[in-house]
Amino acid sequence: MMDVQSFIEKYRIYIIIGILVLAVAIIVMCGKKPQVKVPENEVGNDIRAVMVINYHKVDNVFHSLSIQVDDFDKQMQWLQKHGYHSITPDQLYEFVANGAELPENPVLITFDDGYRDNYVNAYPIMQKYGFVGTIFVVTSFLDKYPNYMTWDQARILEANGFSIESHTVTHKSMTEASDEQIMEELVRSKETIKDKLGKEADYIAYPTGTYNLHIAQMVKDAGYKGAFTIRYDTVNRNSNVYALERVPIFHTENTNKDFLERIQYLPLVNKDGWIKK
Ligand SMILES: [Zn+2]
Repeated sequence: MMDVQSFIEKYRIYIIIGILVLAVAIIVMCGKKPQVKVPENEVGNDIRAVMVINYHKVDNVFHSLSIQVDDFDKQMQWLQKHGYHSITPDQLYEFVANGAELPENPVLITFDDGYRDNYVNAYPIMQKYGFVGTIFVVTSFLDKYPNYMTWDQARILEANGFSIESHTVTHKSMTEASDEQIMEELVRSKETIKDKLGKEADYIAYPTGTYNLHIAQMVKDAGYKGAFTIRYDTVNRNSNVYALERVPIFHTENTNKDFLERIQYLPLVNKDGWIKK
């Protein structure tokens, strides 16, 4: 029978090779990173898109910015019947910035200027269909002009899931204002909302939709998390949070047909606003 000494002697080369193979295997296994499944919310391959609708007035005045009350009801009913879920600007921000989950068929329903009819006409209809909205108010107009909502109404909306955000102090087009004026509009409107509603206004809609990269930077510097334009498109993970796209809805010859065309063809519309179909 072979003793240990002569066994090692005879098979030394195989033992050394065996140890080396084992060592290499251990190194390879330890060094290898676990297989990471690319999460769906990686920006590059995240195809999710969110529709942000933009209204102004909801009343029975014949004006391109006024959606008739009946038409507005039909539009909200259509959204509800087609399984849309209204979201808040914070939810939209978390989606764009961090890839957060959203409900199925998300829609952000926004109103610009802060008209009284948003509270009197739009709010009860939206409540009926279980929707919340976001209202960008011109802060110096509230409690001042009769066709704009009051701060009390804004408070009630906030308490019921709506988001009251900034549309500046005086509705001055920012591309026509000095840097000093822009900063004043941004900071003072934010302060007023804080003072009147006890909340931080984190979002702004550019008055008349006009902005540029310099203005967007000032919005960021003033402490806002995001800003909305009137550029016609859906919001996706590649959107600039300081230049978020929206779909403006107007009163037209056939308001509801145009509403459906504007929102239904959205996924097919390219960056130039043309339908690819
Ligand atoms: Zn406006």
